[in-house]
Amino acid sequence: MTRSELLIGGTWQTPRSGSGRLTDVVSPFDGRIVGQVPVAGDADVEAAVVSASRGAEIWRRTPAHERSEILLRAAALADERSEQIAQVLSTENGKTRREARAEAGRSGSIIRLAAFEGTQLYGQTLPLDANPGTGLDKVGFTLPQPVGVVVAITPFNYPALLVNHKIAPALAAGNSVILKPASTTPLTALALAECFIDAGLPEGVLSVLTGSGGELGDRLAADKRVRKISFTGSTGVGQHLASIAGVKKLSLELGSSAPVVVLPDADLDLAATAVAAGGYTNAGQVCISVQRVIVHESIQGDFLDALSDKVRQHRIGDPEDDATTVGTLITEAEAERVEGSIRQAVSAGARLELGGDRDGAMIEPAILSGVDPAAPIAQDEIFGPVVAVSSAPDVTTAVELANSTDYGLAAGIFTNDVDAGVQYMREVDAGNIHINWTPLWRADLMPYGGLKDSGIGKEGVRSAVAEMTESKTVVIHGSPWS
Ligand code: NAP
Repeated sequence: MTRSELLIGGTWQTPRSGSGRLTDVVSPFDGRIVGQVPVAGDADVEAAVVSASRGAEIWRRTPAHERSEILLRAAALADERSEQIAQVLSTENGKTRREARAEAGRSGSIIRLAAFEGTQLYGQTLPLDANPGTGLDKVGFTLPQPVGVVVAITPFNYPALLVNHKIAPALAAGNSVILKPASTTPLTALALAECFIDAGLPEGVLSVLTGSGGELGDRLAADKRVRKISFTGSTGVGQHLASIAGVKKLSLELGSSAPVVVLPDADLDLAATAVAAGGYTNAGQVCISVQRVIVHESIQGDFLDALSDKVRQHRIGDPEDDATTVGTLITEAEAERVEGSIRQAVSAGARLELGGDRDGAMIEPAILSGVDPAAPIAQDEIFGPVVAVSSAPDVTTAVELANSTDYGLAAGIFTNDVDAGVQYMREVDAGNIHINWTPLWRADLMPYGGLKDSGIGKEGVRSAVAEMTESKTVVIHGSPWS
């Protein structure tokens, strides 16, 4: 799929920046060029912001039932085109076709949820007469309204899911959107954007700027006409955006090193099965991937045996082959980085139980045991198919270790002890906690977002719609009547 034009305000336009330069989109599995997209420049950013500012005026005045109808048409188109979108997604991202189908298949339902939530923008009435000296002559209420122009910046790892989780709630709430997808996965974002455009979005309401985040990001983030930045990506880039955004709304969905605790009373087979999925789905490139397992020392050997048996069943290879369960990382350079982290962990004393070999952009699913919880392999986000296992003598120590990184996106525990489960949910600083499952689980309607360096704000459709609006407080001043 080659695009030589940019989508600005819902129409395909020749890039203004003169060069008309195209950049290749490459399959991480075999290096073939799977498409090209234009590289936007400063003049294109300006055109998109001007167009989005006009679009925001039109769209905020469009009644919610009309916005909802357009979104429902977009959802139907996303369903119809799901198989094509999955193919593009798998090819440019390297995830298995099965994973790509599951991801693309969620688009329609996310958009439908957003269409509904956009019709539910209730305010509150205020009991002003409870204020001393205020009578019944005044009526107060809150009035939710769209924020205006939203800039959505998305990462490579879920190029359909995370685009949908931003675009659909932003549009449902009545905002215009400028999307900047990851440079490695722009084709999925463009295919999804087409569903919204073909559904009948008015002019100006949706733009997609392809090109480097490092070059486009600062201009978009610092622009005063942009009223909200919704960013999903690494903690480093999120911190940078926070430092330049100025006074505007900001949602940051950032990095993680998600822990799972396994206690002696847990169902070990369930824990091993879930970790063997949750550590390696999407080749471990998931913000809620299981990176650390903290297992009670009395069952460490049994757990490692059970986990190794399950992880050995994974097959890496061609993402298009149905037998493949773990696809490639996004680039060979990323695979080299993960390979280097495994080597560093081993030289620091961890034991490589299995896997870890690299072939191009693929890494054989790896388990490390005896990991020092303070080591970089536990503390820093690994973002690859690697699970680092440490041990703890009791649940209190396990909670301390779970909390010992700068991150706080998600955590899990396997136990049948209700007291331990309650202690874990209350004491672990993570935005999502799973009891008897790993953090790698998400329903699109649930509030979703991190604590600590994992971010601020919540996605999940209802929460995202709320964060894409701002609220006015209105007071009607009547006269006292007799
Ligand atoms: P990334 O390098 O931070 O990039 C994310 C997006 O930001 C891309 O579109 C990128 O554009 C853009 N970008 C890069 N530099 C920028 C700048 N200076 N200003 C504005 N935008 C900029 O992250 P990634 O490698 O794509 O994704 C992996 C990260 O995302 C991991 O840390 C993962 O944990 C996190 N993530 C978090 C969640 C969550 O819900 N918390 C979900 C998924 C992923 P280019 O591609 O052009 O560089």
